[in-house]
Amino acid sequence: MAQQDDVFKKIVSHAKEYGFVFQSSEIYDGLSAVYDYGQNGVELKNNIKRYWWEAMTLLHENIVGIDSAIFMHPTIWKASGHVDAFNDPLIDNRDSKKRYRADVLIEEQIAKYDEKINKEVAKARKRFGDSFDEAMFLQTNGRVAEIAAKRNALHERFAEAMNANNLDELRQIIVDEEIVCPISGTRNWTEVRQFNLMFKTEMGSTADGAMTVYLRPETAQGIFVNYLNVQKTGRMRLPFGIAQIGKAFRNEIVARQFIFRMREFEQMEMQFFVQPGREMEYFAYWKEQRLRWHKALGLGDEKYRYHDHEKLAHYANAATDIEFQMPFGFKEVEGIHSRTNFDLSQHEKFSGKKIQYFDPERNESYTPYVIETSIGVDRMFLSVLCSSYEEQKLEGGDTRVVLHLPETLAPVKCAVMPLVKKDGLPEKAREIVNDLKFDFSTHYDEKDSIGKRYRRQDAIGTPFCITVDHQTLEDGTVTLRERDSMQQQRVAIADLHRLIHDRVSLNSLLRKLG
Ligand code: ATP
Repeated sequence: MAQQDDVFKKIVSHAKEYGFVFQSSEIYDGLSAVYDYGQNGVELKNNIKRYWWEAMTLLHENIVGIDSAIFMHPTIWKASGHVDAFNDPLIDNRDSKKRYRADVLIEEQIAKYDEKINKEVAKARKRFGDSFDEAMFLQTNGRVAEIAAKRNALHERFAEAMNANNLDELRQIIVDEEIVCPISGTRNWTEVRQFNLMFKTEMGSTADGAMTVYLRPETAQGIFVNYLNVQKTGRMRLPFGIAQIGKAFRNEIVARQFIFRMREFEQMEMQFFVQPGREMEYFAYWKEQRLRWHKALGLGDEKYRYHDHEKLAHYANAATDIEFQMPFGFKEVEGIHSRTNFDLSQHEKFSGKKIQYFDPERNESYTPYVIETSIGVDRMFLSVLCSSYEEQKLEGGDTRVVLHLPETLAPVKCAVMPLVKKDGLPEKAREIVNDLKFDFSTHYDEKDSIGKRYRRQDAIGTPFCITVDHQTLEDGTVTLRERDSMQQQRVAIADLHRLIHDRVSLNSLLRKLG
């Protein structure tokens, strides 16, 4: 774990050093859990968004996009349940004065039991070698059974307390499990309280006339309140979806782990409206589709898993997360929720407007059911960054830091470098840049030795380096170096466009999704 922490720290500092992510307001000592994206980060982020947007809107003829405002009528948040129920249970340690999410403290405790079981399994595997039968071991080993029983009892008690919103019981679990504050090491806990995560502000110029509005904590409601507009103006027929990318804001109690949990972040959400009774079919469909979208990036299939929810949000009848293996464990990157007709019905009730769909086949009107896919851009960014980062030992004792970013997502697709800064090589290199730049994000670099220039591009994940040398002037060829293999081949300038395009275009990635 300590080793993983180290790697994570290195990734965070790499992200800063190479212009991916900066702490917000850094010269004023920063603003907690708020981050800015730098010159390379913004490109990577935009490419992730494009991949999502086009996978949704180009590949599905029944999905369209919108861009709704961040400010919305405050009653929307009453209707959605956020004013009353968008809370996290918080608890303070009196000695360290640190604040925690009570549910997270308990989840971490459950994870500790899981870790213990995994350790026992690993020990036994070592002992028994090839003949080791994990399933049998888990069933028959006394020590493991004891840990598993404790873990399961805790899990059940926790789920019950969460479902019943029983804050006293959450505190009691923390006490009974002897969970200590990681800072003070003590068990001097306060009561557990609910904390609403929405940011409030005032709209309007005079104090009397001002109205309290919220910064949206999710983009989804902007879709629901535009359901009728889009359905009618787009003459949409069920099933159909509305996609949106935009900022969301949550006053998170504990903001940790870099851009994993931020107070201002970005979501890519798609609400898919279906006939009542067909929601489970589409829930299964989107579960599978979304995992395919992730896996097509090639970050490693084994890094993903589903996590089905036991505690369902007030609006859901099925929910699953797609989790990704971050350096700090498997964590949620995307949620897929069957939201029933809760949101549309609530908006119908609170607005007094009829929000229904007339189904010409059934010859009746009803409130559609909704399947939601909701992914955080920043968490997606973090998963891409973490799984791409490698400190590589090279032959001859040299090392390099390389980002094996999916080529389609890389901020810079190719860098063109004259071998030396004279003899007409820079001019030739510029000529190549001026041709490629219309299709690919292309860098020109003539500073330092060629080796150093390669390393700089490796560190930001540039898939191709093109070197112009004296031979180029004679026969119109250059060397094309690949980031991952570091192999170089001599190719004609005329072929560059095709060679690069085949590898970096979004088109080829989208085709994998069919
Ligand atoms: P968590 O349990 O981690 O707080 P959540 O279940 O509340 O997340 P959702 O409300 O389902 O998250 O939001 C959908 C997606 O938005 C999440 O899967 C995540 O990728 C992203 N997201 C949510 N909260 C944050 C945050 N504070 N910072 C960054 N991304 C977030």
